[in-house]
Amino acid sequence: MIGEQTLEDVKAFVEKQKIYFRSGETRSLAFRVQALEKLGAVVRQNEARIIHALKKDLNKSEAEAYTTEIGILLEEINFTLKHLKKWMAPEKVKTAKTHIGSKGYKIAEPYGVTLIIAPWNYPFQLQLSPLVGAIAAGNTAILKPSELTPHTSHLMASLMKEAFLEKYVVVVEGGVKTTQHLLEQPFDYIFFTGSVPVGKVIMEAAAKQLIPVTLELGGKSPCIVDETADIALAAKRIAFGKLTNAGQTCIAPDYLFVHEQVREAFVKEYIKVVQAFYGKDAIGNEKYVKIVNDRHFNRLKEYLQDGEILYGGRADEEVEKIEPTLLVPRNHNVSVMTEEIFGPIFPVLSYSDLETVVNFILKRPKPLALYMFTTNKENERKVMDEISFGGGCVNDTLMHIATPYLPFGGVGESGIGSYHGESSFTTFSHYKSVLKQTNKFDFSFRYPNAKNGLKII
Ligand code: NAD
Repeated sequence: MIGEQTLEDVKAFVEKQKIYFRSGETRSLAFRVQALEKLGAVVRQNEARIIHALKKDLNKSEAEAYTTEIGILLEEINFTLKHLKKWMAPEKVKTAKTHIGSKGYKIAEPYGVTLIIAPWNYPFQLQLSPLVGAIAAGNTAILKPSELTPHTSHLMASLMKEAFLEKYVVVVEGGVKTTQHLLEQPFDYIFFTGSVPVGKVIMEAAAKQLIPVTLELGGKSPCIVDETADIALAAKRIAFGKLTNAGQTCIAPDYLFVHEQVREAFVKEYIKVVQAFYGKDAIGNEKYVKIVNDRHFNRLKEYLQDGEILYGGRADEEVEKIEPTLLVPRNHNVSVMTEEIFGPIFPVLSYSDLETVVNFILKRPKPLALYMFTTNKENERKVMDEISFGGGCVNDTLMHIATPYLPFGGVGESGIGSYHGESSFTTFSHYKSVLKQTNKFDFSFRYPNAKNGLKII
């Protein structure tokens, strides 16, 4: 259980960071490099403790905890260290004909004191990956982990204390009340990862002080399998994306549109893969992740009533696990088809004409992710060109999030802004445009109201 912080405590943290940021210490390349190296070292030295905390909070297996939480963060740190000097360098721009004699630069400057709010589903990585960007860009940071994963929250608080001074990076643990106190403070930037409804709360609070935001939100991410797809491979890659973290992944395929000609083959293959991954009794499998708490468990259990179960459908209250499930929804208005599922239940819809699929998706909020399985170039082009979505894959799931070369983020209801790799640096930087003028000459035509007598130097 995590308690709330008082308004005074929260205020004090922000004030301390404001003063420290003003000292200018966080801005040099050497300081940023040292801080990133320190972060990497603390993570590496505490891998076992991190894995243990994730096991307690979510029953994540060691392999899953390493690849999706620790490894991905260490990669991000290494990539940033490799490129930071180049990203920090002022960028010279061309001189317009009207501006002869001057020079223009873009200078990346840190915003100042940043707030990073994280969700519970990848509680470690989603808190510290944005921190890499905040540090790289020269900011200080206050981190607010989710109260639903208390072991990871406590551990991050102690690791950040070990690595950094509070005036530079600090974890403020707490729930809604604490976040509300934080949102009243004069932050220079807010980076939020979480649900769409809370994203709106954050943006409304930020708007009161015109604080810039990045919102990494969620929603329903469609997955399409057409009649030309490699069905066995598609089933394997989709089951991987759907069942990693038991479906509690912002970019998990939410629901499936499969061409009617390959529907039966796909269902058969999906079941085969699920059993190969977790056995016939996934709930009994030690490595199968649990649902985070009873509220989410009960929410998911309700979805099981929303249609005909093709596979799975069992929910075990004692261990808070839900079986990998394939379900044919009763209609498009049942909850499983209107709410973000965030669990291992996979609605299966079949189609005969790709146009209807495109129209179906276009009528709904722009997805965070979209996955298209096809070997037909025309179908691929149609989906990629006609549907707006944050990011996604052709013939794979999730993998677009794991490369530092691709910016990651949503569009429309699924989010504002992006991060990872260089885009984390740009997200946490303000680009200051500076024009340096020559004193060697001055054109009189730029002073149209001047009387005769202003001479050209
Ligand atoms: P959430 O929005 O409930 O909580 C996120 C954070 O906001 C937590 O730290 C929480 O303490 C805080 N919070 C909750 N209610 C609040 C309120 N009323 N006022 C102020 N702060 C509040 O989200 P969650 O349940 O932790 O995470 C699941 C959601 O996050 C899903 O919708 C998922 O798609 C999304 N998500 C998105 C990404 C992404 O990268 N786009 C990644 C992971 C999760």
